Amino acid sequence: MKVQVDHTSRAHALLSPSSSHRWLNCTPSARLEEPYESTSSAASEEGTVAHELAEHAIEKYLAGEYLPLLDELPVPDEIRNNKYYSSEMEHYVTDYVCYVCDIHELEEGAKMSIERKFDLTTYVPECFGSCDCDIVGETVLNIIDLKYGKGVQVDANGNSQLMMYAIGVLNSLEPAHRAKIEKVRMHIAQVRLGNYSVFEMSARDLTHWAIHVLRPTAEKAWAGQGETKVGNHCKFCKFKAQCRAQKEALVNEFETYGDTKALTLDEIGDILSKSDMFTDWLAAVKTFAMQAATRGEKVKGWKLVEGRSARVINDTETAIERLKAIGLSTEDITNRKLKGIGDLERLVGKKPLAATLDGLIVKPQGLPTLAPESDKREELSPTIDDFDELNS
Ligand code: SF4
Repeated sequence: MKVQVDHTSRAHALLSPSSSHRWLNCTPSARLEEPYESTSSAASEEGTVAHELAEHAIEKYLAGEYLPLLDELPVPDEIRNNKYYSSEMEHYVTDYVCYVCDIHELEEGAKMSIERKFDLTTYVPECFGSCDCDIVGETVLNIIDLKYGKGVQVDANGNSQLMMYAIGVLNSLEPAHRAKIEKVRMHIAQVRLGNYSVFEMSARDLTHWAIHVLRPTAEKAWAGQGETKVGNHCKFCKFKAQCRAQKEALVNEFETYGDTKALTLDEIGDILSKSDMFTDWLAAVKTFAMQAATRGEKVKGWKLVEGRSARVINDTETAIERLKAIGLSTEDITNRKLKGIGDLERLVGKKPLAATLDGLIVKPQGLPTLAPESDKREELSPTIDDFDELNS
């Protein structure tokens, strides 16, 4: 298998498409984040493997060596032996490959490319990138971005990362062909959540956005100018723990309420809707202080101490021997526990597990929980029983 594109490198450009939601909303953030190292996580490494598997399968499809839905997904040995590979990954990547191949087959005469490299420096300084998959038809351009994460649901609507990929791909086409493209359809394929979200724009509106929004905002961000602005784009900002705007936003939120002794339910609802953002920030502040203290720096009013720990048996085999020697049986001293459904699915595959455990996998009703009004779940009418359960 050929050496694949480094999918993680996209995050390293100062004004990368993947962080554009942040620097387009808070222009100084890119420069403020600059001193902080980018760290790789298990989730991003797993995502890289899933991208490589998808790329390999699509290459085989384009070479006429693999037919989605009819053939088994081709998995090279290097990927099968990777610690992140699982039958679950194979299942989700198959979903993605079928999705992109469907689009390709529906657009007659369209040309599909994977990992097309583009140059966005006309609009954004030092910004180069590549797009997971693009399908160029006579008048329609499709851009598909595979998201392997499942932590936060990603919407294609107005998604600046996709719009940057789209303008990058559009500009890399031959001028005569580019002039014919009327529509740009941008897709998010967030396979593990079954979230396939699509956003369409005219090529003219997309170019207008690139010239009148993307370029001037990128110039500001490159220069580190503008006001810091707090919002949901702060979630992954590396500067967050030190960000004064976060502290001010928190303080101002609580200052705006009146002087009655009791908060009303409207006020409490408002606090709750902002609580995730602030608890996230407070957790980042705590981690930042912990890291500083570990480096030997003084955090006013705080010190490093040994944390509490629980007792553990450090040699299980010897412990079992000694317990048996005093007359206890294996059943007396050990627990036998079936692995969780996720682990079993990874072991045998999602569908085979469902067939094997047919009738045994049930989903108990969840306890009532508070969710924002925008949540897709249906609103419950609380009963006395729910109330009792919550208080039991
Ligand atoms: S944490 Fe601060 S610097 Fe980072 S995006 Fe939010 S407001 Fe901007």
